[in-house]
Formats: sequence, structure tokens, C-alpha cells
Amino acid sequence: MSSALIPLEKALDFLLKTVKENSEVIDVALPDALGCVLAASQRAGFDVPDFDNSAMDGYAVNTRDTVASACRLPVSQIIAAGHNGTPLQAGTAARIFTGAPIPEGTDAVVIQENTRADNDHVEIMVLPVVGENIRLKGHDIEKDSEVLQAGHRMRPQDLGMLASLGIARVKVKRRLKVAIINTGDEVIPPGQALAPGQIYDSNSFTLEGLLKGMGLDVIKKGIVDDSLENTEVALAAAAEEADCIITTGGVSVGDEDHVRQAVENLGELGLWKLAIKPGKPFSYGHIRNGDADVPFFGLPGNPVAVFVTFTMLVRPYLLKTQGCRSLAAPSVRIKAGFKIAKPASRLEFIRVRLETDDNGEQTLDAFGNQGSSIMTSLSWADGLAEIPLGQIVEKGDWLKFIPFRGLL
Ligand code: AMP
Ligand code: MG
Repeated sequence: MSSALIPLEKALDFLLKTVKENSEVIDVALPDALGCVLAASQRAGFDVPDFDNSAMDGYAVNTRDTVASACRLPVSQIIAAGHNGTPLQAGTAARIFTGAPIPEGTDAVVIQENTRADNDHVEIMVLPVVGENIRLKGHDIEKDSEVLQAGHRMRPQDLGMLASLGIARVKVKRRLKVAIINTGDEVIPPGQALAPGQIYDSNSFTLEGLLKGMGLDVIKKGIVDDSLENTEVALAAAAEEADCIITTGGVSVGDEDHVRQAVENLGELGLWKLAIKPGKPFSYGHIRNGDADVPFFGLPGNPVAVFVTFTMLVRPYLLKTQGCRSLAAPSVRIKAGFKIAKPASRLEFIRVRLETDDNGEQTLDAFGNQGSSIMTSLSWADGLAEIPLGQIVEKGDWLKFIPFRGLL
């Protein structure tokens, strides 16, 4: 291992080049595709809507018959959604409701609010223009057009859109199974009483949530004490069931840090000191399982460092493995509402919250304690702000803001 700090982009480029894309495709019912990555592009089998229909409740007319304001037309039929009318008799209007097919011979719908009903007649108060309030066949989706590309991760609205095309099942990439192992003699699961010197495991819960939020399956392998033997046993067992293994803790240079040695014994290990803060120690590699190499990521122990290294390196790696098209965490630029006088010693990811100032403009507020063990900073914040190496922050500076919502 070189002692030089490695820039984040370089580390990410390297990792992304090693990705072996998951080729397993499964066919699932539409609701089960939520969070999954489409294995094939989706096309429209027909126009949506499939017929011209009314956008409003009102009266379907032919504009030839509505030339004078306050004209009065007999109502010759009533057309509700789901029912087909008959061709419009010249010189009449059809009572029509939202979503109902436009009858032949009409070219506009006058909204109810612009009419006055008068027994079996209707008075048109505002003259319509051709096409008014008519949703044309195919105006949402044209037949044969590509509506979603392969590599798209399915969101709720995508399920709805495919459903509108009558698609009940889709082919997606099988959800990856990611194993989480947490190390440390001091770490115990919540639900038990703490003995002196112990702490509760928080990392596995944060990681589980992040992974599930990405649409992946999680296998929690529990907490392993600081012993080489037990670490090896846990890693080997994880490699048998998982597509990827993530550990937390035990990768620094302490005598009780056995993850590195265990990975070296069972596969191959790379170790970086990342030029980011928090999250300096980071290891990667694979664990051999028969003929297969199961990717491995050794994250730091400190909870904020876990969050940041997962987000910046592991997340894009896993997305690419799933064949996802967009890999980077979504970001926007927002002005800082705070200042930091000391130049950033590495690329820093600070925990920030969105505030609205007196002018209604959004600004970022920074959590007071930016230590890498401060879990509350993550819970308090709405996202991370990136501070480039060597930069100070003045109030009003534009910062890259990575909202937590975009990670799910
Ligand atoms: P390590 O890299 O193992 O030296 O851990 C660095 C710091 O992270 C230590 O203070 C650990 O107690 C803490 N830590 C390690 N694992 C966890 C965990 N699963 N949950 C919360 N904190 C942890
Ligand atoms: Mg430890």
C-alpha cells in the first residue's frame, strides 16, 4: 500500500472498471419491480390514450355550430367515461364527462363552467376554439415509442406508466444480495444491556437501510469479534450466499484490525487511504468462493465514514453491477448559509441541512460537530455538502449538495 492519499475520482474509476455486470434477469409482476433495474427497454404497444377523449366535464360540440356567443344547442346525448357515444347530430351538443371518448363530428369540449344548462338545451357562454379540452389519441405516449430504457431503476411513477400500457410483468435484473458483517469486540446489537466499554452496532442498520433503499436484498451476518479466525469464518460464509460483502471496522492499522489479513487469506485485498474526510481507510477486493470471486468492501468503523464511503464508492459500484445507467448520487448547487475559515484538508463531505432564508431562498446550514463518529449529524442533516480540498467557505458560496433522498 502506498502511503499517498488517493483522490476519490481515481478510486471510483478504478472500482467501476472492475465491475462484473449482473447478467441474471428475472421476470416479475409489475409491483415487484419497484427499485429494480430494467433488463430491457420498454416500448408502447399502442397509443396512450388510445382514443380522443374529453379532458373536462362539459359539452362536446362542433365549432361550426358555436359561432355566436350565448348560442343555444339541444343536448342530443350523454357520454360518460367508459361509454361510446354516437356520431354527433349537426347543430347539437353532447353532454360529456372527463375521460369519455369524443364522439365523431365534434372538435371541442366546452367546460361546464362556461355553459348554462336549460332543460334539454345548453347555452354556450364562451365560444370554444378547435381542439379545446380534447386529449388526442397518442398525446401521452405514441405507439412503438421507447418509454423506458434498459438500465433504468424503477420508481413508483414508472410502475404506473408501464401499467398504463397494459404491461403487467417486466424483466429486471435479479436483486443483488449484499452481506453485511460488522466487526469489533466492543460492538453489540441493540436490545441487550451494554457492559462497560461496549457500544451498540449502528453501522449495520444504516447500511441495511441504504441497500434496501437501492432495491437490493440484505443478508445481515451479524457482529464478529476482533479475531482473525472468526473474521475468516464470517467472510467465507458470506461469500457462499452473497453477491457482495461489506464489512465495517477493523481495517485501520490497529493490532485488533483483522479484516485485511482475513481477506488476504481468502482472496485478494486492496487498501487505500482515500483523500476524503471522513472516510480515510477503505479496502476492497474479493473473497474466493469456489470458482467465483465475490466483491468485498471494507468500510471504516466510524458511522459517518461508513455512510460517506458507501455513498461515494460502494453505491455506484453496486448500481453499475446492476446495469444502472446513472451512477452518481444526484446533486444540486445551493448557497452556503455558514462559513468555514479553515481550508479543507481533504475533499470534505459535511452534514448540512436545507434552510429557507428571509428572502425565501434555500441555503445550507452545517451541523456543529462534524466528527466522523457523530451519528446525530447524519440524522439532523438533509444531505452532504462537498467542500473541495483547500477551500474555505464563505457565506453565499455555491456548494454541491447531495440530498439523502436521492440515495434511495
Ligand atoms: P475500527 O475501524 O474498528 O477501529 O472502528 C473505528 C470506530 O468505529 C471505533 O470507535 C468503533 O467502536 C466504531 N465502530 C466500529 N463498528 C461500529 C458499528 N458497527 N457501529 C457503530 N460504531 C462502530
Ligand atoms: Mg474495530
